[in-house]
Amino acid sequence: MSSTTNSQVTLSELEKKALKLIIEAGEEGLLQQDLWKMLGIDSRDGSRIALRLAKKRLIYRELVNIRGRKTYRLTALVDKLPEEEKEEEEKKTEEEKEVKYVRKAPRPIRLDVKVSMKLVSTIPCTTCPHLDKCAEGQFYDPTKCMKLTQWLHKMAIKLQQKRLAKRELQAASSVA
Ligand code: SF4
Repeated sequence: MSSTTNSQVTLSELEKKALKLIIEAGEEGLLQQDLWKMLGIDSRDGSRIALRLAKKRLIYRELVNIRGRKTYRLTALVDKLPEEEKEEEEKKTEEEKEVKYVRKAPRPIRLDVKVSMKLVSTIPCTTCPHLDKCAEGQFYDPTKCMKLTQWLHKMAIKLQQKRLAKRELQAASSVA
């Protein structure tokens, strides 16, 4: 099996095909179980490829539950294959090369929050007696506040549950 190398990563032909499919799937990503079917390989090889791409920080693997079965949703962290990136880099002028390539940040949770007064009223700061003295670097510091951290954690879990339920509903309706 041939492979492609650039200064950052080496990809096999199969890894390249997989990464291309994941990039093409866009922000919604691709389920790992769909990827290995599209590549015509078995689940074990599919899982290995996804893991290797994730280790190379080219994709993000998010554990999801689809109709009671655990699988991974694979989302690209790059816009193009490393070899395409390399070709573009070689075509660039010296001036253009100074603009650094920025890798996309992982998006484990897409925040889609409609702000309601009910939600705002649950923020611990709204009833905190230390609000007027609270600031970064001070004794009362929002970056170290346990109350605020616990509240944010609770909100993140709720959002993720909501998102998973929505996806499961979409998956169930696409099967029906
Ligand atoms: S971050 Fe913590 S200490 Fe600061 S106002 Fe909010 S609840 Fe109070």
